[in-house]
Amino acid sequence: LRLKHVAKVYENDGVLTQAVRDVSFTVDKGSFVGIMGASGCGKSTLLNLIATMDKPSGGTIELDGQDLAELSEAELAAFRRDHLGFIFQEYNLLETLTIRENMMLALTIKQTPKAEIKGIVEHWAAKLGISEILRHFPCEVSGGQRQRCACARAIATQPALILADEPTGALDSKNSVAIVKLLLEVGRSLKCPVMTITHNAEMARVADRVFHMKDGRLERITVNEHPCQAEELDW
Ligand code: ADP
Repeated sequence: LRLKHVAKVYENDGVLTQAVRDVSFTVDKGSFVGIMGASGCGKSTLLNLIATMDKPSGGTIELDGQDLAELSEAELAAFRRDHLGFIFQEYNLLETLTIRENMMLALTIKQTPKAEIKGIVEHWAAKLGISEILRHFPCEVSGGQRQRCACARAIATQPALILADEPTGALDSKNSVAIVKLLLEVGRSLKCPVMTITHNAEMARVADRVFHMKDGRLERITVNEHPCQAEELDW
């Protein structure tokens, strides 16, 4: 993933807000990046630009050498469906579907062969400790279980890029560690970049690099020479 001089300006009623300013960086396959910074510094805007949910006002975003701005709307939809695993802070589960159906939906949209879907759902449910609640609706389970379902849904499709917006923001420390550990393991095993907005100290310990944002800029990058390994975290 390569960003070059990415900028985003919002205009509302003639008022301009420079949400992201001249951000450039490269994230390699299997690398784990935490994004930190005060509220309003542009973290979510940056993540949304990379996720192609919004378009930059300037600069380029490339994944595997492909400039995302050159893709048509249909190609962008296919990119999000086939290559992107996005974990939302507020889970974004469909309330009228069970936990199992929420996970199945992402795989069905990706046109995963029907015969494989059940096995994939059960594999990730077991890995995330949510096998017992697959029949339940999101409103019937805890916040931690909902977030684990949201993670399972995002990674079961084996994305080429994982983006997460404060995935541990609403969780207690035990559930937070479980999510951090999972993102780390999955990123390494799928060899895909993981970028996650976080205020979580565990996340900063495991990240290869932490990007510190301020006023829309990538102010500094902390390199973690010896990032904590998944096995060292308590489950
Ligand atoms: P963070 O995720 O770090 O809290 P955001 O990326 O949400 O920050 O916001 C960065 C800046 O852009 C803020 O000043 C915010 O008010 C502004 N902003 C975000 N989204 C919009 C929008 N759709 N329209 C106008 N301004 C926006």
